[in-house]
Amino acid sequence: MSKIAMTTPLVEMDGDEMTRIIWKKIKEILLEPHIDLKTEYYDLGLAKRDETDDKITAASAEATKKYGVAVKCATITPNAQRVEEYKLKQMWRSPNATIRAALDGTVFRAPILVNGIKPAVKNWAKPVTIARHAYGDVYKPAEMKIDKPGKVELVYTRADGTVTRELLHEFKGPGIAMGMHNLDASIKSFARSCFNYALSVKQPLWFSTKDTILKNYDGRFKEIFEEVFREGYEDKFRQAGLEYFYTLIDDAVARVIRSDGGFIWACKNYDGDVMSDMVATAFGSLAMMTSVLVSPDGYFEYEAAHGTVTRHYYKHLKGEATSTNATATIFAWTGALRKRGELDALKELAAFADRLEKATLDTIEAGTMTRDLYGLSDLPSKRAVNTEEFLRAVAGRL
Ligand code: NAP
Ligand code: MG
Repeated sequence: MSKIAMTTPLVEMDGDEMTRIIWKKIKEILLEPHIDLKTEYYDLGLAKRDETDDKITAASAEATKKYGVAVKCATITPNAQRVEEYKLKQMWRSPNATIRAALDGTVFRAPILVNGIKPAVKNWAKPVTIARHAYGDVYKPAEMKIDKPGKVELVYTRADGTVTRELLHEFKGPGIAMGMHNLDASIKSFARSCFNYALSVKQPLWFSTKDTILKNYDGRFKEIFEEVFREGYEDKFRQAGLEYFYTLIDDAVARVIRSDGGFIWACKNYDGDVMSDMVATAFGSLAMMTSVLVSPDGYFEYEAAHGTVTRHYYKHLKGEATSTNATATIFAWTGALRKRGELDALKELAAFADRLEKATLDTIEAGTMTRDLYGLSDLPSKRAVNTEEFLRAVAGRL
């Protein structure tokens, strides 16, 4: 049987620790036997990042702009302990932050649902995908402690010298104060990424803020989303039979819990931080969460939401077999291959991605799973297997 051909390379970003081990196995066991895999390889492993003064990360982001689709393995974000462990020249920035900044992208996190593992919210039959705006608000504040009576003002001095003041509060005693900001350009990019992604996965888009209270601030978010929608997306949404829906954050929370899922929920920075952890936990396991970075220009970078699974890697180094779940990393590959298939009109490639996802889910639903899922699954007959046994079982079905 001849292998499935590719025309444009995928940007392949290798990573660290246990996920680097899994990465290689996925390619060997699940992909290379069936696909004439065409990738442009970037080693984002920490050693290579250090050796290249992290230029490799910037280069991989540029390649993503060139080819349009990337697949990324989890990578170590260095801290003081890692600087020591890897004898680093310096504490390099998080690769995800570098790539996100280069692509001006938004991250969408979606759970992978399987029979036998029930979400904590029993009516969630389809995934709830969270899109978090990743710029500004309370993550870039100016804040201060107020010790004595006095007034705090917001002062805006225009480049031409014009001054506008807004009284924040007249303090009669001690307290606290904060100022924060956002940018029209960033909100616009966020909106475009959200509308593009909704069209790409054919799901409706919800957006929520608190514009009844923050009439100017959150009101601007609401306005920009409406403008971007009207100018570039309304017709496309209508043709696709999709809806864009705006509501208040508290109303959104109530609706999300009552819903059966199957939509994208765009959140402001803080709302997205909090809600994505809640939604992820309610769906069961970090090892079953995918993540895709979508740029406003339509570039896609797929990865697993979890990290490099360090604890398992140290066991692996001691020669012990680990039971690390490869599902989210497999889905990063299938997401990227399917997107490549769509863009290059390679039906066989997209169909392969569908089959590999189905084989993975069928394996778990037939009772063969890694230990993290074994603890969660309510299937009457199930067995826990190690990392490689799971991949072999998926390959068998495939
Ligand atoms: P982690 O790698 O996600 O692992 C945390 C724990 O979650 C694991 O110890 C394991 O629990 C469980 N887990 C996560 N993924 C799993 C999988 N595929 N299969 C089975 N269990 C899984 O997070 P971390 O330990 O906090 O971070 C490790 C490294 O990853 C750090 O250096 C961090 O910088 C990096 N990181 C990278 C990314 C990224 O590249 N996107 C994201 C997050 C973290 P048990 O040990 O109980 O089995
Ligand atoms: Mg958080």
